[in-house]
Amino acid sequence: MTPIPRPLVDTAPIVIEGMSMPTPGLDAYAEPWRKPEHDDLAEMARTFFLKEVVPHAARLEQQGHPDREHYLKAGELGLLGLSVPEEYGGGGGDFTHEAVLLHEQTQTGEGSLGLAVHSGIVTGYLAAYGTEEQKRRWLPKLCSGEMIGAIGMTEPDGGSDVQAIRTRAVRTGDDFLVTGSKTFITNGYLADLLILAVKTDQSAKAHGISLLVCELDDAAPGFRRGRNLEKIGLHANDTAELFFDEFRVPAGNLLGGPDAENTGFYQLMQQLPQERLVIGVGAVGAMQRAVELATAYAKERTAFGKPLIGHQNTRMVLADCVTRTRVSRVFLDDCIVRHARGELDVATAAMAKLYLTEGQCEVVDRCLQIFGGYGYTTEYPIARMYADARVQKIYGGTNEIMKELIARAL
Ligand SMILES: Cc1cc2nc3c(=O)[nH]c(=O)nc-3n(C[C@H](O)[C@H](O)[C@H](O)COP(=O)(O)OP(=O)(O)OC[C@H]3O[C@@H](n4cnc5c(N)ncnc54)[C@H](O)[C@@H]3O)c2cc1C
Repeated sequence: MTPIPRPLVDTAPIVIEGMSMPTPGLDAYAEPWRKPEHDDLAEMARTFFLKEVVPHAARLEQQGHPDREHYLKAGELGLLGLSVPEEYGGGGGDFTHEAVLLHEQTQTGEGSLGLAVHSGIVTGYLAAYGTEEQKRRWLPKLCSGEMIGAIGMTEPDGGSDVQAIRTRAVRTGDDFLVTGSKTFITNGYLADLLILAVKTDQSAKAHGISLLVCELDDAAPGFRRGRNLEKIGLHANDTAELFFDEFRVPAGNLLGGPDAENTGFYQLMQQLPQERLVIGVGAVGAMQRAVELATAYAKERTAFGKPLIGHQNTRMVLADCVTRTRVSRVFLDDCIVRHARGELDVATAAMAKLYLTEGQCEVVDRCLQIFGGYGYTTEYPIARMYADARVQKIYGGTNEIMKELIARAL
């Protein structure tokens, strides 16, 4: 009797490109915060990304920004503002729901919609600091997708040293006149609502910063969008320059109301841990997808008469990568649980951003290697993932700044 050949690994799930499938070594793990409602949300989000957006990926990459219709469709499905209270048009959930959405976006390979900023960051600022009037005015439109949100901190002269920003807002009657420029603004080409970091007291550093909520209208005097920047990755998501020359913003748009003037730095520092966690969610999603894609390829492709996964080096690399991914998920979940309790401190969030994005770049690079020459061609998603990963070590505060923050807490 011919012996039945033993499979090279015990379980061999077939990975369909873009689909979130079980991964040996990963699917045995369940997030401690996960409930059935998160599974329902994950399924809805995955279906939306795969059916509505991913089929347009090539065109979106070409145009350099997402389609507004996709924001509106996401809003219709209730996928925007998942953590925003229902009374303001949101889903009434918490950060775990945003994390599920972002994980599915990464897992499906959807890279156009700037949801990490729109939902993961901008709505958070409004919900945390907005006056009642401000929340009622802007949150429903962000949740429906009528408005696209962005946040502007970085300036051409520097991003790491937020205290040194130069964009100034001078009070004249009932308005602020804003003059200056911002660069690298995610969603900046399409954004309708911008949380803008400005200096309201030129003589002060951190204590002179305020956040203004700007409704962006291309016809408004004093406002101009610059280039939609060409990048090595994230081609389908817009990253733009914004210019202000005595741009008029009503004083009522000061985030948090009149008493919040010059408290912007404090507001930013309070929200940055969540921004770093959002980046970490994307990092772990990308690691998981890279491992899935590389595992499937290694089972399919043969060299020297056997599948790649039959060669010891491939097995060792995948074992390293899946272990790194699993450990990263556990750390990320610990941070998510801390954040849900309001206890995620600056240093721990910085550790998450540092460790998870370094892990993403390493895992994606090692998985790309398994694809050989095909891994370098953009026809294979792993190549795009490689280019997309690099910026994770730069934005949200560079990883060097993360080390500073961690070291300061020692
Ligand atoms: C695709 C993309 C999207 C982005 N989206 C946004 C956005 O939506 N909103 C926004 O406001 N910004 C955004 N950014 C900007 C991003 O946050 C900044 O690029 C980042 O904070 C670094 O600032 P910088 O580019 O001015 O670099 P710099 O601050 O000039 O730093 C240059 C280098 O010096 C290092 N460095 C600086 N200071 C120190 C120090 N004290 N110790 C050690 N090393 C140091 C840095 O780590 C870096 O390696 C985005 C950037 C990109 C590329």
